[in-house]
Amino acid sequence: MVEDKRSKKIVVATHCILNQNAKIQGIAKFPGVITPVVDFLVKSGLGILQMPCPETTYLGIRRWQYVKEQYDTPAFREHCKKLADFILNQIEDYQKSGYKIVAILGADGSPSCGVNKTPRNPTWSGLIPEKLPSQKQVAEKGVYMEVLEDEMKKKNLNIPLIGIPETPEVGSMEDALSRLKKLL
Ligand code: SF4
Repeated sequence: MVEDKRSKKIVVATHCILNQNAKIQGIAKFPGVITPVVDFLVKSGLGILQMPCPETTYLGIRRWQYVKEQYDTPAFREHCKKLADFILNQIEDYQKSGYKIVAILGADGSPSCGVNKTPRNPTWSGLIPEKLPSQKQVAEKGVYMEVLEDEMKKKNLNIPLIGIPETPEVGSMEDALSRLKKLL
């Protein structure tokens, strides 16, 4: 292979790390990218493979806030599987060609992309609410991350998952970046 400047190191990022415009209304914490994460990736010489947003590609940008129970349907899981396969096929090819996939970055606090924290409401009936369903952050993965992990197991891919916290209530950005740093 011809040598050039590439690091051959890649991080796979949940869509909204690079595009906060994909978030539901009212919760974007940055104008464009999640600056501390992107600054870190740029300084570390990592390429970024951006995953499609599972929610925006399913319900569009005008969707409202859901808990995990509402996304946990066979149809949404099927949708997530298609997106996961699209990314994992690219990952497999990079790995076969000698590239390092350092980590997959999820979004803690999301019902789809949570790694360590995911909002749930087990009593949510599905009736049209006067206000949005209340939620509790629980220590489990979101629907997309569960599907992605299952598909990774089928392909014998072992890539660390790191949750980037959407808010300080669901985790520390410093801790997430220090976990990532240890993998470099
Ligand atoms: S956390 Fe996942 S589902 Fe939510 S906006 Fe980001 S990419 Fe989309």
